[in-house]
Amino acid sequence: MFARLAVNISAISGVFDYTVPTELIPALRAGCLVTAPFGNQTVQGIVVELTDSSSVPNLKPILDLLDPAPLLTPPQIALSMRLADSTLNPLSAIISMMIPTGLGQQADVHYELRNTNYSDPSSKIVTRIINLLNERGPLRGRQIDSHFAKVDWRKSANMLVKKGVLTAKNVLPPPRVRPKNIRVAQLAVTPEAAEAEMGALGSTKATQTRRESALRFLIQQPEPVNLSWIYAQTDCNISDLQELEERGLIRLFENEIFRDPLEKIEKQETRNELELTPEQAFALGEIKQAFTSIVSPSSFLLYGVTGSGKTEIYLRAVQEVIKSGKQAIILVPEIALTPQAVRRFVSRFPGQVGLVHSKLSEGERYDTWRRARDGKLNVIIGARSALFAPLPNIGLIVVDECHDSSYYQSEPPYYNAVTAAQEYAKLCGAVCVLGSATPTVEQRYVAEHDHIEKLELPNRVTDSTLPPVQVVDMREELKSSNRSMFSRVLAESLAETIARGEQAIVYLNRRGTSTYIFCRDCGNTLKCPNCETPLTLHVEGQSSKGNQLLCHRCGYTRLMPKTCPTCASNQIREYGLGSERVEAEIKSMFPQARTLRWDWDTTRQKDAHEVILTHFANHQADILVGTQMLAKGLDLPLVTLVGIVLADVGLNLPDPFASERVFQTLTQVAGRAGRSSRGGKVIMQTFTPEHYALQFAAGHDVDGFYLRELDYRRSLGYPPFARLVRLEYRSVDNVKAEEEAKKMAAKLKAKLEAGGFRQTELIGPVPCFFAKENGEYRWQVVLRGPDPAAVLKDLRFNDWRVEVDPINIL
Ligand code: ADP
Ligand code: ZN
Ligand code: ZN
Repeated sequence: MFARLAVNISAISGVFDYTVPTELIPALRAGCLVTAPFGNQTVQGIVVELTDSSSVPNLKPILDLLDPAPLLTPPQIALSMRLADSTLNPLSAIISMMIPTGLGQQADVHYELRNTNYSDPSSKIVTRIINLLNERGPLRGRQIDSHFAKVDWRKSANMLVKKGVLTAKNVLPPPRVRPKNIRVAQLAVTPEAAEAEMGALGSTKATQTRRESALRFLIQQPEPVNLSWIYAQTDCNISDLQELEERGLIRLFENEIFRDPLEKIEKQETRNELELTPEQAFALGEIKQAFTSIVSPSSFLLYGVTGSGKTEIYLRAVQEVIKSGKQAIILVPEIALTPQAVRRFVSRFPGQVGLVHSKLSEGERYDTWRRARDGKLNVIIGARSALFAPLPNIGLIVVDECHDSSYYQSEPPYYNAVTAAQEYAKLCGAVCVLGSATPTVEQRYVAEHDHIEKLELPNRVTDSTLPPVQVVDMREELKSSNRSMFSRVLAESLAETIARGEQAIVYLNRRGTSTYIFCRDCGNTLKCPNCETPLTLHVEGQSSKGNQLLCHRCGYTRLMPKTCPTCASNQIREYGLGSERVEAEIKSMFPQARTLRWDWDTTRQKDAHEVILTHFANHQADILVGTQMLAKGLDLPLVTLVGIVLADVGLNLPDPFASERVFQTLTQVAGRAGRSSRGGKVIMQTFTPEHYALQFAAGHDVDGFYLRELDYRRSLGYPPFARLVRLEYRSVDNVKAEEEAKKMAAKLKAKLEAGGFRQTELIGPVPCFFAKENGEYRWQVVLRGPDPAAVLKDLRFNDWRVEVDPINIL
């Protein structure tokens, strides 16, 4: 038998054949983690395939199997091969996203006693090992360690393995959650087994007493107990508990408690019995049919405004899937931004939901991964990477808010989780549901022309309608000598809203709105020396020495200079709009109003999203100034006004997707007002009110925008009418980057001609719009055509970053 391995070395792409030693043949399966010789080192790798023959001569054998259970399921292996192929990423880079980091280092040896009658009175160590395994049953190496302080027992154990007295097997142990995350403990053995160990828990009297009292306390507790409660009751400490855990007597873990900032204000949920609207019932019926039918499409686009009842459909579909003994994956843009939706899943399927999010520690991540692999979780909810949870039998994959750019991984290995989800569902024989009020032009085009069914929910479930949007031409404001950042109508509306005791959101587009530092004499803008991003004023960073300037891209800071570095003029001033400026202006206009700021600066801390949201939801603030928005499910009945300070931001970037991005953001923001019977309105300020993206957003006209944008894409030959591949080179040396880019362009040109790729066009080489990042200059070459990735199939890229179907080319 031969095994084909994806070796776990990031720079290596491709797979390698090995022979399988006879003793491993019964246990080895595709998806297993093994070690193998590679060059003159030993590396870890995943078996992607077992074969009866290999065309490669003189193969080396696999060395060891690190865990009997496969790490990847067969559909996961198939998905990783497909993704490596379609995204041009190395296979090992894709596979490493599917297994928890540091997994290989966790491997341990599991010892089991086979011959209970063996004895060797001449060796004290042998006797101790045998007695221990006799009493406690099979143990892992690290557990045995805790019984043999500073004694090398492994040599004796290996000797016993050779004699057939013990068996030894490599395993991945249950996760040991790191101390800072430990919240609860529970007895892991029967009370009798715990009592039996009671006498020998520590080497000194003090430790013995502490551990004994902790163990006695846990014997009495049927439920997991909060650690701080155990400390208070028994005087023990964390290392005592860890020792008890190492001995296998107790289990330390984090309880699956999802903290929801809106918990307190939430109305009674879990209305499982509510009756679906006819549109919902139809959509659910189609999805249910697809579960059992082989002719139905396996992908759906659930297209419906926020509040049209999409989440309710997901919940029912998940219920159906669980009933049939399968599992579901629910992807959301970010858990912290979708608290209500997540909560509905957790409360509808108690004890069955695993959350995957960026704030999990390595231990918690590993824990969730293992529980998923062991089939202990029925639902996984999380951002992009939750798609790779190793559920054994997936029946449904939902991608909620499928237009959201966070589904695209914008660093290597580049991939799009939405298309990957569709692909994966097919490989699992599962159903994929993409949900959005504003699907991207490409997603919608595919839904209308391909084997994916569009299901529409045109109305909100409650009879609230979308709020009216008033577009304000800021050029007219200037003409009437209003130089404030707020138009008169927005200022008045804010005043009225506060006077009525209601709430307002003032929104700034994240990209490009900041307080630039600008010289009025020479026009120079102060930029970051690392990445050429304009520096912004950081009001909260004021020190005795003066104002701090900050680069929002790389974190560079410096003091505000007194004179212009270019012309030495003292007319160097701040200019533009930052959320701090906006907040300051609101405070000066409405001193009585309580404001809250939600942006890059205020959300860097852990739990910041939750804290801000809770404050606002509890009406501890009147006006929220934000560059970030809740992606979904935010139901704030007191919000009756949304002001968009400058809608044009980002519209004129040199990128084919610029209008779509602006339209999406504005539509999402505009949908935030008037979710209750109080109604509400949106005021959109702009210098280019005639732009179609703003016009359609103001009319909540998603269909109109789609048709118009599609025309534009068709006439210029952009996706979905062509595909793009972007190749990017970065170097601290701009000349080198340019040279490399030219070389690549020449190589590709030759390839296009030689390969007869007549319809594929080369754009560039050019410097990227964001010309510098982290001190490196960026150059790019873009290929456009029916299948530009095909051109690149067998090329080597070395230091180049290759992005297939990028979501921007800035
Ligand atoms: P979406 O996911 O499209 O934003 P939701 O599923 O969250 O929509 O539904 C919006 C609100 O309407 C939720 O509070 C939900 O509980 C409620 N809802 C959903 N479907 C129904 C229904 N058929 N009857 C009554 N209320 C519903
Ligand atoms: Zn100057
Ligand atoms: Zn920078």
